Amino acid sequence: MGKIQELSERLANQIAAGEVVERPASVVKELVENAIDAGSTQIDILLEEAGLKKIQVTDNGEGIAEDDVINAFKRHATSKIHTRDDLFRIRTLGFRGEALPSIASVSIVSIETATQEETQGTFLKMKGGTIEEHRPSALRQGTKITVEQLFFNTPARLKYVKTLQTELANIGDIVNRLALSHPSIAFRLVHDGNKMMSTSGNGDLKQAIAGIYGLQTAKKMRAIHSKDLDFDIHGYISLPEVTRASRNYISTIINGRYIKNIALNKAIVNGYGSKLMVGRFPIAVVEIKMDPLLVDVNVHPTKQEVRLSKEPELTGLISKAINEVLREENLIPSAADNLRFKKKVENQEKTEQLSIELEQPKSTKQGLSFDKATGSFYIEESFTESSVEPIFEELPQTIEEPHFPSFEYQEKVVEPPINTEDTHKKEQGESTSSNHPEFDFHKKGPQMIERMQEEPVKQRFPHLEYFGQMHGTYLFAQSQDGLYIIDQHAAQERIKYEYFRKKIGEVGDDLQELLVPIVLDYPNSDVLKLKEQATALQEVGIHLEEFGANSFIVRAHPTWYPAGQEEAIIREMIDMLLTNGKVSVHQFREATAIMMSCKRSIKANHYLNPQQARILLEDLAKCENPFNCPHGRPVLIHFTNGDMERMFKRIQDPHQSRGGEG
Ligand code: ADP
Ligand code: MG
Repeated sequence: MGKIQELSERLANQIAAGEVVERPASVVKELVENAIDAGSTQIDILLEEAGLKKIQVTDNGEGIAEDDVINAFKRHATSKIHTRDDLFRIRTLGFRGEALPSIASVSIVSIETATQEETQGTFLKMKGGTIEEHRPSALRQGTKITVEQLFFNTPARLKYVKTLQTELANIGDIVNRLALSHPSIAFRLVHDGNKMMSTSGNGDLKQAIAGIYGLQTAKKMRAIHSKDLDFDIHGYISLPEVTRASRNYISTIINGRYIKNIALNKAIVNGYGSKLMVGRFPIAVVEIKMDPLLVDVNVHPTKQEVRLSKEPELTGLISKAINEVLREENLIPSAADNLRFKKKVENQEKTEQLSIELEQPKSTKQGLSFDKATGSFYIEESFTESSVEPIFEELPQTIEEPHFPSFEYQEKVVEPPINTEDTHKKEQGESTSSNHPEFDFHKKGPQMIERMQEEPVKQRFPHLEYFGQMHGTYLFAQSQDGLYIIDQHAAQERIKYEYFRKKIGEVGDDLQELLVPIVLDYPNSDVLKLKEQATALQEVGIHLEEFGANSFIVRAHPTWYPAGQEEAIIREMIDMLLTNGKVSVHQFREATAIMMSCKRSIKANHYLNPQQARILLEDLAKCENPFNCPHGRPVLIHFTNGDMERMFKRIQDPHQSRGGEG
């Protein structure tokens, strides 16, 4: 007899299980996806011991007919695709027919299901893939699948399971994403009797976001839309002030399927430009509808990684949509808000820190709270099993704010809207003649200001009336709607950054000959790198001529280089290129502009006379994005009139039951 034998179905299933069901979270994902594919409008997920003891998913979908139940547990048995062509236009989440047999092979599974047409339901119980019980059951349209003692027969797999908290957080993350991809389905996740999250299922994505990330966060999200012949994009993105330390809060959804794609994540972050703090990431839910032919989901068994055709077009469209929405926003953070949220943010960061240590997705943390005293996660709202059992008891139509402790001090005072029309009129009225040679930012100040004038004055930026400087660091200004405090260094960085970025992009033939050519010496390895990157340097106006083995000579520079700083700028640019290694021209220009703006801006502890300060603020108002410095830090903060009045108790804080005006 030959040595090669076909694997038994059971063994094949166990091997496949290694790919499809790595951990409790993957079981939850597969079961919930099946429930979604079955057209359910309510899906309840019940866990015990982070799913290791029990995972139960109950749906109200189409159910499985009696004569199909056993087939559902056969390998490569699926109702979702029939022909090869179907594979290229997949609209369902599942299609490989691997999940149920894989799960059944490594656990004890029971299923109770019925279709609409049937007069009775079916119950089937399997242990390690072998049928233990098969009988009729009570009629309830939909399917309830219970997975117990996961990995009981594959101890090696159990070893890979991390702590219960990590596994639970993973499940929370998956369920959150599935819920975000399906706002028309009411989801509920319950662990050991405690509700972790629920969504209303009323079809409104923003409400689903509120159900998952909390109402306050949802309020700070903005809608995005964009469309071209191939793609239809919509979703919500957080304002730049609401950020997280990881990319985990970015969800991308293609045709209802949550997917992971680095290029799409990057496109979202790029849409923020320099508005995001370095190392911080937004919260975003971006849904893309496209012809299924343009996306290949059959790359990996978990179907989370996809291959996209026309990826550059799609990423461009996403970045642009985000950029456009944020351009319309007044992004000055409210100072009072900052103070009020300080505690909350600190707590949040702590939880994030902790989650990072655990190397786990973090999006469940609003549902899951961390108890510092016991060093463990706990879930706020208490739920008894009996209140969950009649599975689809009333869920509120509009989602209430989740009662997680971290949100308790988030109550926010409503701000009066900023009267942009008024400030605009004022700005138009006052001519902003900017010929102020007195205030010489960098010896070419007037020229710079001229350039910036071409840009339209942005309506969303308030008219700032300067009235003082503090500690040579902060500028104070007022407008009709309150007090503004401006970080003078950040403001000038922003102005210079926009100036340099434009200039760096404008390298043409207008080079200025140097009186004395600059000779630059570099070690061998650097010489090679520089030769390799010669084009990138040319794109920013630096033309290196070889001059002996280890030297280059530079004879000219773009005319806009500030006088007296030519050599320093050239050396800095080259150094940056050497330290950063291979960069695209775009990145190089961006980095150069940031570096030049930072190095050449007034620092703190520098006295500005009132006229200099006013010019600085005028130039700031003309910036494309006057709200952040190029590193993403805020340039100015705002106390509204209301904030001031509340602080001085002139009006009553709506959240404090104090007496009237004092
Ligand atoms: P796939 O989802 O790839 O088709 P599965 O192994 O996950 O494979 O499921 C096998 C089949 O069982 C599905 O094609 C579907 O017909 C049926 N099924 C599984 N779960 C459900 C459910 N919750 N409701 C209705 N049918 C289901
Ligand atoms: Mg499936």
